[in-house]
Amino acid sequence: MRKDDLVVVSVEDMSSEGMGVRHVDGLALFVKDTVIGDVAEVKIMKMKKNYGYARLVRLITPSADRIKPPCPVARQCGGCQIQAMSYEAQLRFKEKKVRENLQRIGKFENPPMEPIIGMKEPYRYRNKAQFPIGKDKSGKLIAGFYAGRTHAIIGCRDCLLGHEINQKILDIVLHHMETYRIPAYDETTGTGLVRHVMTRVGQQTGQIMVCVVINGRTLPGGEALAEELMQLPGMSSITLSSNLEKTNVIMGKTLSLLAGKEYIEDYIGDVRFRISPLSFYQVNPVQTEKLYGKALEYAALTGEETVWDLYCGIGTISLFLARRAKHVYGVEIVPEAIRDARSNAELNHITNADFYVGKAEEVLPEKFEKEHIFADVIVIDPPRKGCEQSVLDTMIQMAPKRIVYVSCDSATLARDLKYLCEKGYELKKVCAVDMFGNSVHVECVVLMSRVEK
Ligand code: SAH
Repeated sequence: MRKDDLVVVSVEDMSSEGMGVRHVDGLALFVKDTVIGDVAEVKIMKMKKNYGYARLVRLITPSADRIKPPCPVARQCGGCQIQAMSYEAQLRFKEKKVRENLQRIGKFENPPMEPIIGMKEPYRYRNKAQFPIGKDKSGKLIAGFYAGRTHAIIGCRDCLLGHEINQKILDIVLHHMETYRIPAYDETTGTGLVRHVMTRVGQQTGQIMVCVVINGRTLPGGEALAEELMQLPGMSSITLSSNLEKTNVIMGKTLSLLAGKEYIEDYIGDVRFRISPLSFYQVNPVQTEKLYGKALEYAALTGEETVWDLYCGIGTISLFLARRAKHVYGVEIVPEAIRDARSNAELNHITNADFYVGKAEEVLPEKFEKEHIFADVIVIDPPRKGCEQSVLDTMIQMAPKRIVYVSCDSATLARDLKYLCEKGYELKKVCAVDMFGNSVHVECVVLMSRVEK
């Protein structure tokens, strides 16, 4: 096979990024936009020694798992990778991805997996959206999402994963930019003003947040814009975030209030949360409740336990657990999130939770050495890159009976579990929870217990 060759393949597997895979003569051919079970004519785009990439030219026999994606830009947009797969097939794909990572990276021959917890409705579930603002070829303002692997903006004001209100918000913001002749930010030159529009909706409270991220300190006519947005029912928080840096990081570090409050509120279960623009908050509240329910089940608290919740964000898991524990300690790197966590504890009259700002890999070893802290149960929920080894080492020294690991990347999860299992822990249960329908991502919650010597 060489570049530009046309070949017919039947897709036999899916890569973890959601591309169809065909193995031919010991090499793997990755074909974007195909689904396991498709027979398709494809064009070779790039050939390396052990693998290659091809483009879908023509479907010959579509897979039984194939459906027509409801979103008109599903193929171009980098947000959804597997919208062309039926939801049942998506769940099978995710469960298999988790199992294979645990086997291949974690060396767990037969991981103790519970059935994946799927969503009732894999659309309109996201409570947060971040739309880049730019110009199309004719110079007209657009809002949408980046295409896969590039920063070309695919115009899309009504993402089917998000809330319908986003379209109205974007219409108002873009119209305001036209009226006041406000240019969109251009990341190649670092000029222009409006970079992103971030929105959040409290699913239980209906409160809406808009944060406009700008390459500057003020927005022309900002008050008029805020006034117009405040007419939307539920609008509760309008802020500007200044991001003057040439970076892919979306949010700037400083915020200024245009109207309403600096935060919105929402509930997970019966715990009420205050959420600031800069704080992490799970994007799928319905599945989050199921995820935390599993974490709580695995933690098996009786009311007597001391629990550490590492990477705690605004204290969501900590406060969910606090009512069943003796004391909970949370650690989180973002100061605004810890501020939210503390006011969330107060808001819910929870007095047995304390929160520390700092890197888990610094706070935990330091507290362990200086204060000899103790834990019956440790819950961790790190970002995609997983845990620093120093965090794992301190956890091992603290020797909690149970470790509950919540993860959004099963590859780094498998790596960390392998390490813990080499140092006295045993993998007891794994449950995948689909929080991100139509994308390739999957959340997991894992129970490990200390092997009694
Ligand atoms: N448990 C929370 C948040 C999980 S997301 C929830 O379920 O809502 C991961 C969190 O880890 C984010 O809030 C992020 O800011 C934080 N974080 C990232 N790196 C960190 C580090 N080195 N130390 C502590 N927290 C970190």
